[in-house]
Amino acid sequence: NNEQAAAKAAAVNADSGAPTIFDKIINKEIPSSIVYEDEKVLAFRDISPQAPVHVLVIPKFRDGLTELGKADARHEEILGQLLYAAKIVAEKEGILDGFRVVVNSGASACQSVYHLHLHVLGGRQMNWPPG
Ligand code: 5GP
Repeated sequence: NNEQAAAKAAAVNADSGAPTIFDKIINKEIPSSIVYEDEKVLAFRDISPQAPVHVLVIPKFRDGLTELGKADARHEEILGQLLYAAKIVAEKEGILDGFRVVVNSGASACQSVYHLHLHVLGGRQMNWPPG
């Protein structure tokens, strides 16, 4: 039934703390289209874009930050750097007039990769409720 299917999907997507595909992207073991990079942050285009601009902004050092819900006081600085990097990405992509930043945290928010990431979306009218 639906409940069992949802429970199974949540289990598949649970935060195990294991390395993710984003480690391979950070280490350039698999290619990505990089939009912005500095010492601590990497921003690259989502492989399955939900808007004309869809960029993921991630910390290069996950440091336990598998999901926003696991954030700790020691992560305050990197969290600020990620949000500021999202603004730099929006500027580079020419969408400063209107863009959206989304963080899915946990299975019931449909998080699928357990390495914290900000989705930066724009280049079209963004609707509210989200869509
Ligand atoms: P989440 O659902 O966890 O919030 O978002 C994960 C995002 O990562 C999805 O939008 C998905 O399209 C993207 N993604 C998953 N694997 C890859 C990959 O190998 N390369 C890139 N560029 N994006 C990926």
